[in-house]
Amino acid sequence: MKTRHLQSEASAAIKPNEPSPERCRENVDVVVVGGGAAGFFAAITAKEHHPGLRVLILEKGSEVLVKVRISGGGRCNVTHACFDAAELTTHYPRGHRELLGPFHRWQPSNTVQWFEERDVALKTEEDGRMFPVSDRSSSIVTCLTEAARRADVKVRTGLEVRRVRPLTAGGFILELRNAPPLRCRRVLWSAGGMKAGPTTDMFSRLGHHIVEPIPSLFTFKVRDPLIEGLQGLSVEEVTAQLVGTKIRCEGPLLITHWGLSGPAILRLSAWAARELHASKGSLACTIRWIAHVDDPMQALKTFQSRNNKKQVSNTSPFSLPKRLWQRMLASVNHPTGKTWCQMNRAQLETLTNILMCTRFKVIGKSRNKDEFVTCGGVHLREIDFKTMESKILPGLYFAGEALDVDAETGGFNFQAAWTTGYLAGRAMAQRF
Ligand SMILES: Cc1cc2nc3c(=O)[nH]c(=O)nc-3n(C[C@H](O)[C@H](O)[C@H](O)COP(=O)(O)OP(=O)(O)OC[C@H]3O[C@@H](n4cnc5c(N)ncnc54)[C@H](O)[C@@H]3O)c2cc1C
Repeated sequence: MKTRHLQSEASAAIKPNEPSPERCRENVDVVVVGGGAAGFFAAITAKEHHPGLRVLILEKGSEVLVKVRISGGGRCNVTHACFDAAELTTHYPRGHRELLGPFHRWQPSNTVQWFEERDVALKTEEDGRMFPVSDRSSSIVTCLTEAARRADVKVRTGLEVRRVRPLTAGGFILELRNAPPLRCRRVLWSAGGMKAGPTTDMFSRLGHHIVEPIPSLFTFKVRDPLIEGLQGLSVEEVTAQLVGTKIRCEGPLLITHWGLSGPAILRLSAWAARELHASKGSLACTIRWIAHVDDPMQALKTFQSRNNKKQVSNTSPFSLPKRLWQRMLASVNHPTGKTWCQMNRAQLETLTNILMCTRFKVIGKSRNKDEFVTCGGVHLREIDFKTMESKILPGLYFAGEALDVDAETGGFNFQAAWTTGYLAGRAMAQRF
């Protein structure tokens, strides 16, 4: 894990020719950098806890909440129906330890209630993902923008914060692109996933360590005769493992026209994000097609003895798509039309090996279009997870994907944004 740390300027005073506090055009109490899920939640929470505060969201784009709008295929997977804080943390490859306390303070049941109190009911799908009943992300966008308007949170778009400068007397000056600097007393950095560059360098100079940002949540490009032409087929419960590691994930698997996808693969890509990023070329994964059958050889033999006269290609002991099962049989030289009693021990053994551990060469990674996140960001040991305040620079707070926190798919990434945003907003309000 790489972290970047440049020469510290955390305590540097304002230098000549740089904006002095007096030349700043405005004085606000709290500036929230980034009009995304975490920023809106924090700003609304701060104002609702302390209505007298002047809270301003600065968004560099022309619109706010862009990711909320496009999330979940336009439906916004707001959170996950997992209401036990400890269990919830198991879905976070980065942040699982640090998020336990925050999830005891703000977890999916609070999120559900928050939206319901603002007239947006959520529904739970079979796999636990929660969406607005309307199935439209615009319900969430409207709810957040309305709540911000009612709470009198100011929002300005088209303003990019280039630099956060701490003042020796307390408070901050924010340098903006194409606009005069701004002065404020507290800053929440909720500008989403970082990219190595000026922002990470700026935080490094302020004394923070930035864990190298890399992508997470992708699918695997695979070319293999076993799955060729089977796009669209899914298998209920597989175990996917990255070869050469102990990282192994369970879940449904989807065969696509370019390779392997579905929750098991996306989970694996999240838990093995660093390993996948570091590997140069020779990547491979294995699939156990029947995750919960302890002894497939025995299961095959028992099935064989009970179904002797039946055609193997039409009767599988496991719940696998028929065309995939037939491909497996073809690879053990057991042609269509033959019966179970015609299958010899060697074929049973080879079939067992395929079912237990098919190895696929991964020739590339594709970004999962439905959800992707950044793994990496502000180092978690430098954050007080009760308040989301920086331990390096008091008055500076972090929330959302800017932190080295990310999750599997399923609404967990937004939940981290709501939780950290809420805690930061409440803590900032309590500091005045
Ligand atoms: C296509 C897609 C679909 C997704 N679907 C889901 C889903 O259904 N469920 C789920 O849980 N997660 C989903 N995610 C992940 C989720 O969107 C993020 O984890 C979440 O948006 C993070 O919230 P955030 O507020 O930290 O950052 P963001 O939502 O990225 O918001 C940060 C904002 O800050 C602004 N900004 C950046 N730099 C500056 C600056 N210097 N000055 C001012 N403004 C700045 C950005 O323009 C942006 O608007 C999806 C992600 C993608 C890409």
